[in-house]
Amino acid sequence: MSSLKFLGGCREVGRSAVLLDTGAEKILFDYGIKLSDPEAEDGVGRPEKANLNLDGVLLSHCHLDHSGLIPRLYNRGYHGSVYSTATTFDLSKTLWEDSIKIAHMEGRELDFLDSDLKEVERNHRRVTYGQTVPLGGCDVSVYDAGHVPGSTSFFVDTGDKTILYTGDMNTIDTRLMKGANPNYPNVDVLITETTYSDIDHSPRKELEENFIEKVKERLAKDGVVIVPSFAIGRSQEMLLVLREHGIKAPVYLDGMSVEATKKILRYPEFLRYPDELKKAYHDARTPGDDDDRKEALEGPSVIVTTAGMLGGGPFAYYIKEIYDEENCSILMTGYQVEGTAGRKLLDTGLYRPDTLDLDVKCYYELFDFSAHVGRTELFDYIEQVDPEKVVAMHGEKAQEFVEDLKKRGYEGVAPEKGERVDI
Ligand SMILES: [Zn+2]
Ligand SMILES: [Zn+2]
Repeated sequence: MSSLKFLGGCREVGRSAVLLDTGAEKILFDYGIKLSDPEAEDGVGRPEKANLNLDGVLLSHCHLDHSGLIPRLYNRGYHGSVYSTATTFDLSKTLWEDSIKIAHMEGRELDFLDSDLKEVERNHRRVTYGQTVPLGGCDVSVYDAGHVPGSTSFFVDTGDKTILYTGDMNTIDTRLMKGANPNYPNVDVLITETTYSDIDHSPRKELEENFIEKVKERLAKDGVVIVPSFAIGRSQEMLLVLREHGIKAPVYLDGMSVEATKKILRYPEFLRYPDELKKAYHDARTPGDDDDRKEALEGPSVIVTTAGMLGGGPFAYYIKEIYDEENCSILMTGYQVEGTAGRKLLDTGLYRPDTLDLDVKCYYELFDFSAHVGRTELFDYIEQVDPEKVVAMHGEKAQEFVEDLKKRGYEGVAPEKGERVDI
């Protein structure tokens, strides 16, 4: 009998890691960090010896809550393969290198090094959508998850059971991505993300229109519109939305978003409108230093920049210049997690990371662009996949969601960290 061991991502968002043990093979889905506390030893933790005895690692996408601990496996002596799309690997590398850089700057020790990144690279096996590869006696098929460029859902056929691991996913089309199409062979066990299993997002078209209306209204005041965005996925989507709606003011792209966009453009096959993104990136200005940033602030202009939750990046520079300018604006484009500078700003009107303490007088608002499936679409997805058993993870409301599933006649479980589920 096969089993699944849930090492992390249980009733929470962060540190996703699931170990499939078929008796003959051990396969790890993702190995991520807890974003709010990357050092947490109660996270997935230091790899146990058993975890190094693996036949392969399947990496769903680049975000650190899925990829962050993979170099650590190699630091501890894992020599096997890690499978992902080319974009996922390329973007993960950027994030891993950045983690090392930030740790150095903060005087922290990370337990992986540049040399471990080389090992990951040496052992990386590139896969793409539509492909099926053998892993031991299992067959692993690769599907588009619609979450960020290169994101994957893995379908594993052990010969005895079939398992679908969604990773993070979205089933609706966005300006950047085509939604995941739940057209798989027969699925016995579905391991699904449940980030937004309790809410529905507003329709994308309406959201885009409201956002653009606000951008235009604020630009008409001759101000600067700062659009804090996650480097991977959201920044590129914002470039496309601004272009599609014919925003005439100069658009600037700053922070890690620039490198992420360049990398994402290397793999046009993972994008919905690659040519449009190429043009939008070509037309955007990319400040190289603070002099360029001063020019960007002369306005009217739109500045798409990291950090998405306002906790650093060039945003920290820009806000010092505009926080008390009433004609300027901060239009946030993603969920602001509890404890972040962005959440504090929304709740208190103050911007207070580290050494700064600003009473923000400029306009600010949050627009809920999301790269995760909402509640109604998640139910639709499960209905179409029609599995024997649903395992809910990567969501704070996973347990409640399973209760709702049971009422609809499904067998479901929301495992706790460390729990083993026989399948
Ligand atoms: Zn993600
Ligand atoms: Zn995630």
